[in-house]
Amino acid sequence: MSQSAYRAPMTAAEAAQALTHPGARALSGGTDLLVQMKSGRARPEAIIDLKRISGAIGVRETADSFVIGAMTPCAALGEHEGLVKAWPGVVEAANLIGSTQVQGRATLAGNVCNASPAADSVPALIAARAVCRIVGPSGERDAAVEDIAAGPGKNTLSAGEFILSFTLPKRPARASDAYLRFIPRTEMDIAVVGVGVSLTVDEAGIVTAAEVGLGAVAPTALRVVEAGAALVGTKLDDAALSALSRAVEAVCRPISDKRGTAAFRTRTAGVLAARAAKIAYARAGGVA
Ligand SMILES: Cc1cc2nc3c(=O)[nH]c(=O)nc-3n(C[C@H](O)[C@H](O)[C@H](O)COP(=O)(O)OP(=O)(O)OC[C@H]3O[C@@H](n4cnc5c(N)ncnc54)[C@H](O)[C@@H]3O)c2cc1C
Repeated sequence: MSQSAYRAPMTAAEAAQALTHPGARALSGGTDLLVQMKSGRARPEAIIDLKRISGAIGVRETADSFVIGAMTPCAALGEHEGLVKAWPGVVEAANLIGSTQVQGRATLAGNVCNASPAADSVPALIAARAVCRIVGPSGERDAAVEDIAAGPGKNTLSAGEFILSFTLPKRPARASDAYLRFIPRTEMDIAVVGVGVSLTVDEAGIVTAAEVGLGAVAPTALRVVEAGAALVGTKLDDAALSALSRAVEAVCRPISDKRGTAAFRTRTAGVLAARAAKIAYARAGGVA
């Protein structure tokens, strides 16, 4: 591994300035970046550690939202009672990343910005309609999670920009989410398909809003608006679940590799979406 300068700025402005250097790379937990450096795939001249910036770590509750510091280790998300209750799917996705040791360092920011199509937290964050707060040399802006990845290993952030936080809305009564992935092994593997579903039901158990995020079946994770729409107005009957699966399968553009063929991934995406929807529905208190 070649030598890289290391800097840990205390302010977002300093970090943005440091990241404008073409050879600089942001560092959160390092579980992707350091592996890439060791294998020679990344050779940054400077590593800009973002963890000391105010607001980078921790979960803050406001009247209507949870603001998650983008450099919060994934393990810490599962320790925040309010977040787990409101967004169990987002937390279970983050807590599927690697192992306990990996989750002690890995962050949502790194998972999103590394731009792997199979990143586990991304479909759940998309279904949650999470908003990224991006800081850069010319100020701050917000973006949807599905707009960050541009393709495998590439993101849409400009020079100097980094994600400082993710905002998830507080939930109404009878709302929940779920994340499921399929992997050939039982753990420590890359998703062949990952699906996040978030939904809200009314007192009669009718779905009033639903969102679906899909990973590992296209160059970037996708928000599948038609899949969410297929559930709205239903009690998740078989016809609704079939329509959900068809909508999910229709947007799949997967590769075939040693973990599964394109046809297998597409079919699995439809099946997992229906299962995740049922879990989210039960968590939301839906009555079938
Ligand atoms: C053994 C092992 C198992 C793994 N298992 C899984 C798994 O099951 N599921 C999964 O999805 N991933 C897995 N990963 C990949 C990795 O752990 C995750 O992608 C993790 O979330 C990355 O977060 P990080 O903070 O460590 O990122 P880092 O390595 O710090 O950064 C990753 C990339 O994002 C950029 N970056 C980091 N922070 C920011 C920011 N705030 N703003 C802009 N750019 C930023 C970095 O420059 C780098 O390009 C695994 C990795 C290992 C080593």
